[in-house]
Amino acid sequence: MKHHEIDYLILGGGCSALSFATELIKNNIYDHTFLIVEQRKKYEDDRSWCFWQNNNDIESKLISKSWKTSSFSLKGNQITHNSNNYYYHYIRSIDFYLHAKSIIKKSVNVNLALGEKVLKISNLNNKYLVYTNKKIYIANNILDTRPKKNIYVKSPFLFQSFLGYEIIANNNRFDSTAAYIMESMRYEKNNFLFDYILPIKKNRFLVEVTFFSKSKITSKKLDKILLKSLITNKFKNYKIIRKEYGVIPMGFINKNTYFKNNKYFYAGSIGGAVRPSSGYAFLRIQEWAKKSAINLKENGKPISHPKENIIVYFLDRIFLGVLEKNLSSAPLIFFIFLKRINSKSFFRFMIGVPTLLDYLKVVLSMPKKYFLNKIN
Ligand SMILES: Cc1cc2nc3c(=O)[nH]c(=O)nc-3n(C[C@H](O)[C@H](O)[C@H](O)COP(=O)(O)OP(=O)(O)OC[C@H]3O[C@@H](n4cnc5c(N)ncnc54)[C@H](O)[C@@H]3O)c2cc1C
Repeated sequence: MKHHEIDYLILGGGCSALSFATELIKNNIYDHTFLIVEQRKKYEDDRSWCFWQNNNDIESKLISKSWKTSSFSLKGNQITHNSNNYYYHYIRSIDFYLHAKSIIKKSVNVNLALGEKVLKISNLNNKYLVYTNKKIYIANNILDTRPKKNIYVKSPFLFQSFLGYEIIANNNRFDSTAAYIMESMRYEKNNFLFDYILPIKKNRFLVEVTFFSKSKITSKKLDKILLKSLITNKFKNYKIIRKEYGVIPMGFINKNTYFKNNKYFYAGSIGGAVRPSSGYAFLRIQEWAKKSAINLKENGKPISHPKENIIVYFLDRIFLGVLEKNLSSAPLIFFIFLKRINSKSFFRFMIGVPTLLDYLKVVLSMPKKYFLNKIN
């Protein structure tokens, strides 16, 4: 079998690989060859990427909807956070995939091979021999973005499992200017759960049910609960047009799981892009992709996901630890925190750029009963 030689072989062609590829092309990096090998034969609209962002930083034309208000509720009591500076934005994955594909198609040195599953990797004279179901590659460097199991430290750790339906429906309960991030927070049968409702257009909604729990929840189990939520939330005569299911590990990666050398890099979820306390990763992946492409251009190597801001790391560890130990009180913990914190500090904390004052406000907003134990 013929061997194909590549400077950078990128394993997996999801969010992080495609974000990196578009940044390489944007930065006119021509002096290496890049190939993404992706097991899927075709991209589908398999997820909705949402994130808070400072409106001054927005550059993506792919955003299909933005909400000024973020809403949360517990037993019918609603809390909203608003700011003219920070909106909640929504990107359809299919728009993102097709946009990246069209940019890659025009590139001479960045390529994408769909329908190729990586089966085995071995070392060969300081290079890598990568076997897929179709070809064998010799790679000088590897950027690995394939999700991996069992890479997280045991505690604090929770799974975030969710199932969503995009529906066409009649509903006059949810205001189209608000994103309902944690609606009807509740604790049922050893799980903390809530509804996530995005009014996308008139009569079109994304409705999800999300669990934070110690083990993964199957889509079958979530399906039953989601159907109940649709009724409780008064969605009438609905028609399901799309489904999305996901399980996001919320935890801290055990760094010993990585190969330690300067030719094998990790990115995306496996590289530590997922924010442990919230499961958000999209914006963090975009930031990594930008920095990594620039580093490659200026210093000859990409970078792995940057180390966490120490304040954010500290707060996330405490927050996740408290949730893990007090899951039955999670609805109240979130409610008290969201009620006390001011909107700007909340948004900056969620984006991962809190100031020192925000840090103080976040700590002071946490319900003392649960958090003092953790901090001492
Ligand atoms: C349904 C869903 C919704 C999400 N919503 C949000 C959100 O709203 N906001 C947010 O910030 N984050 C969200 N996330 C979390 C995170 O942003 C995404 O998971 C994101 O796609 C992670 O990017 P990634 O590159 O690490 O992984 P992926 O995008 O999953 O890419 C990994 C790729 O590797 C491929 N692959 C795996 N094994 C192989 C193999 N052996 N050979 C070849 N290819 C392989 C997979 O097919 C996949 O395409 C969501 C996650 C899911 C699952």
